[in-house]
Parts: sequence; structure tokens; C-alpha cells
Amino acid sequence: MINFDNAATSKLDEAVKEKYISYLNMDLLNPSSPHLGGYNVFKMLAEARFDTLKLLNLENTHQLIFTSGATEANNLAIQGVVLKYRNRGKHLITTSIEHPSVLNVFRHLEKDLGFEVSYLSPNEEGIITLEELKKHVKKETFFVSIMAINNETGAINPIEEMATFLKNFPTIFFHVDIAQAIGHLNLDYSHVDLLSFSAHKIHGLKGSGALIYRKNTTFSPLFYGGEQEASFRSGTEDVEKDLLLPLTIENVFHSFSKEHNRIKEMHDALYDGLVKLDRYIKLNSSKDGSSFIINFSLKKLRASVLVEALSNRGIYVSTSSACSAKKSKMSYVIYAMFKDTFRAENSIRLSLGYDNKVEDIDIFLNTLKELLERLSL
Ligand code: PMP
Repeated sequence: MINFDNAATSKLDEAVKEKYISYLNMDLLNPSSPHLGGYNVFKMLAEARFDTLKLLNLENTHQLIFTSGATEANNLAIQGVVLKYRNRGKHLITTSIEHPSVLNVFRHLEKDLGFEVSYLSPNEEGIITLEELKKHVKKETFFVSIMAINNETGAINPIEEMATFLKNFPTIFFHVDIAQAIGHLNLDYSHVDLLSFSAHKIHGLKGSGALIYRKNTTFSPLFYGGEQEASFRSGTEDVEKDLLLPLTIENVFHSFSKEHNRIKEMHDALYDGLVKLDRYIKLNSSKDGSSFIINFSLKKLRASVLVEALSNRGIYVSTSSACSAKKSKMSYVIYAMFKDTFRAENSIRLSLGYDNKVEDIDIFLNTLKELLERLSL
């Protein structure tokens, strides 16, 4: 089997798996309990929080809420802050190519709660430029959410430049969804106010992630209860998963420093091989995007036909993103870039992971060529 669908989820790290089992065997108590057993777990969680922040160089400026993943972190960051600070203004900014866990929150704030939302457009490389952001910031703007790397195309947005620019507007919160960037790109997040990610995209456990926020930010909670996580996220903590977050990040950072050149070489070989198939496909990603994601559209064939044919040969790829692939035939990300319905309906995403092998590339390209020649007749 060749898995080129690593952006949907990634293989669990062996060390994380082992440690998870050892935590389960420890019968950890409730960190809110008033006795020593509870306090010990509370302390372990505080250390995991600090270690996670330290790995991102944010331990002096930011704090962390453990969540069930990026979807919850995105919801809490956007709804939680926008509702809490609604007296600051009425205008919000996001992009038309965000993950649904961001885009649908803004649609709700716009349609149901009367906020004005600007949806920034990507250029033909899928990038949201700093100029595009500058055009839309106005006096009433108080919240901006822009992803670091797009999950369908791998386009990298200029987050550091945007954060520096937004520093000129001290009443604006800047949120960045780093679900596809963490462990895949080195970025300085010190000027970003809110960051969301999921552990399972970086070889950690599903149902685990975090929202990192600048110190002293407060939130309107998504749900009320026992006031865990600084009262912003009630409910008994998923202690074992939360404790594993620093190890997960440490290990993916290690993979990044050791293996990134190899991934980049594989990515470039894949890209060059796809360029040669231009009779059948159009590339939707640029070569200098993320080394982990390449997107292309079929010129004549339906994407679903190719995904199934590849799957029958043991090669797993995706149409658009896993979250949208089953629901809509059209990728709104590819549509936003090219305004071409057939291209948006027939896009394929290849996403690499640290466990892919160099040999996979030739096998994939040869199989793809053979299928395209046969099926496109
Ligand atoms: N943001 C981005 C950019 C993603 O790729 C994903 C996962 N597809 C999410 C958010 C949501 O992550 P999860 O499903 O783990 O909550």
C-alpha cells in the first residue's frame, strides 16, 4: 500500500503509542480532585502545557488550552474571542480557502449574529498575499483568521509578514490555523495571537490538539461546566492524550530536521513527473509550496474514477480534503483560485508523510500514467 493521503491523518508514532499505553496503565486520576493523586496529575498537565509552548518558543508570551483537535480549537478561538470582544467592532476577516472548521464559523457569525465578514481571495498560486490582507483591514476590524498552509494545495501564506503588519493594529486579534504547518515548516509564531492544531496530523492521537493564545486573552466558552482549562473549556481533561502532546511535537520536529530534505526531493520528483503528464492534468500547486502537498486537476477524466482506480492498485490519494471529499463534488479552494468548475470538481490531492519511501514516487507515477492513458480514451 502507498499512502499519499497523509494530510487527512498520519501514522501513529511508535513512541507516542507506547507512552499512551503506559499512561493508560498508570490509572491517572482526575486533575481537579482535591487530594494528592489529583494534584500530581494536575502538575503533570501543567508541565505538558509548558513543554508544548516551549517547543514552539512561546512559553513566555502564550498559554495553552488542550482541545479535541483543530476543529474545536478553531471554533473556540474564533467564536470565543469574537463574542467576548464584540464591543471592539463589527468587522472580521478570513479567507475563502480556509478549512470548514474556520469558514463555517465565520458564516455563522455573519448570517446568524450580524458580523460583517471579508473573505480574502487567493491568487493563482493559492496564496493569500499581504497586499490582499492590507486592502481589507479597516477601523472596525478586530479579528483576522488566516491559515498557514492550505490543506488542499499546500500553498504557504506569508503568516510572519501578516503578523508583523497586524502589530500596527493592537485591537486586532490574529488567529492562524497551523494544522498543516506544524512539523512541516519552521515558522515564528511570536506575533500571532491564537494558534490551532491537531495531534493526529503529526503522528499523534486522534481527538487531541490545542489552542494556544496570547497571555491575558479571555474567551466566551463554547460550553459551560466545571471550569477546567482556565474556565474556557469545561469537562474533565483527556489527560492521557493531553500529556502526549509535547512528545508528539518533539518527535515530529525531530523528523522534520532529519527528513525534510528527503521529503522535498520526493516532492520535487513527484512534481516534475506530474508536469510531464500535462496532456492529462493541470497542476494546482506551485513547486515552492509545502513539500507535503501537491494538488492537480484532471483535464478529461472524473477525479472519483481515478481515485477508485488508484485505490484498487493499493494507492491512496484524495479528492479535495478528507472533510469535504464525501460531501461536495467541487473543491471551493480550487474554484477560488481558477473559477473553473470542471477543474474544481476534478482535483486530486497527494499528501506525503515521513513514512513514504522514495520508491513510492516511481511506482505512483508509472501507475498514474498507465491509468490516465487507459481511462482517458
Ligand atoms: N484545519 C486544517 C487546515 C485541517 O487540515 C484540518 C483537518 N483536515 C482541520 C483544521 C481540522 O482538524 P480535525 O479534524 O483534526 O479537528
